[in-house]
Amino acid sequence: MQALVLNEHQKLELRELEIPDPRHDQVRIKVKRAGICATDIEYWKRGSNRLQLPVVLGHEASGIVDKVGDEVTKFKPGDRVVPQTTYHICGKCRFCREERYNICQARKGIGSKANGAFAEYLVVPESSVMKMPDRMTFEEGAVVEPLACGVHAVAEQIRIPLNAIVVVLGPGPIGLLTAQVAKASGARVVVAGLSSDKNRLEFAEKKLGINKVIDIQKQDIKKIIYEMTGNYGADVVVECSGSNSAVNMALDIAAKRGTVVQMGVLSKLGEIDFSKIMFKELTVIGSLSQKPTAWYTAMDLIIDGKIDVKAVTTHILPLNEWEMAFQIASNQEGLKVLLDPEA
Ligand SMILES: [Zn+2]
Ligand SMILES: [Zn+2]
Repeated sequence: MQALVLNEHQKLELRELEIPDPRHDQVRIKVKRAGICATDIEYWKRGSNRLQLPVVLGHEASGIVDKVGDEVTKFKPGDRVVPQTTYHICGKCRFCREERYNICQARKGIGSKANGAFAEYLVVPESSVMKMPDRMTFEEGAVVEPLACGVHAVAEQIRIPLNAIVVVLGPGPIGLLTAQVAKASGARVVVAGLSSDKNRLEFAEKKLGINKVIDIQKQDIKKIIYEMTGNYGADVVVECSGSNSAVNMALDIAAKRGTVVQMGVLSKLGEIDFSKIMFKELTVIGSLSQKPTAWYTAMDLIIDGKIDVKAVTTHILPLNEWEMAFQIASNQEGLKVLLDPEA
């Protein structure tokens, strides 16, 4: 089968691999759609030592069950499914006991420490597989993962107060999905980005019903947020860009006793003004990927029409055109870019 591998030299290449066979408790999935995530782009551009190489990238997928191990009871070939990203966990630690598999020390996820979804076939444990509702398309199914990250951040790690103003920094796919989750929970939502995010910001306002968008290079975000909130600041700020200056901006525009959620992956160490956390009595919380509860909520939000994941899916390209797909995803031309291994 064709598979997009990050090789031993931290370089991405399309390789011919053996079709994997599912072990006893595993399910083999014929991948229909697989989404490119910002972390995949980072691995492509810079490599990473957080991975076990060589590895097939890709952790956002939908597909059809193709073969099951002899202990599998819940799935059969032909089932339409979405795989959660957990490939291996210890099953015994305090985090596993709470189904917080995202932070189990022994965790191996698909597309980083186990082979992922940028391939014709993918193997995952039965416990990670979810049936896709009949009404859900494979395009929607592939976006359940990033949406679940947004659900985990603003509906599990925190509770958004009634009538809150939520500011999302960074209008990439994760930012715009998280903004929609905040919107679905009743908040007024502001999305902020750079001048180069112009199209994404326009899209957020016109197509996703985001209440206000801000170009931080042209507008004074602090002034705008303070004006909107009677000089209090934002109740919740979600940092989705992974830039140091955005973290400081989040601490700056949050209201006293407000909450800052860190979702962006900070690639560099930098100065962060922790005194604001003390002076403003802020709550700062991290949010890493998702846990099973968030997957179910994400699926419900899509099926109930509360979140438009179709709108954020801008491109579908064949797996062998991965280079162009990665280019489109990285230069802000598109939002969610999906790969189709069958095309
Ligand atoms: Zn992702
Ligand atoms: Zn564990």
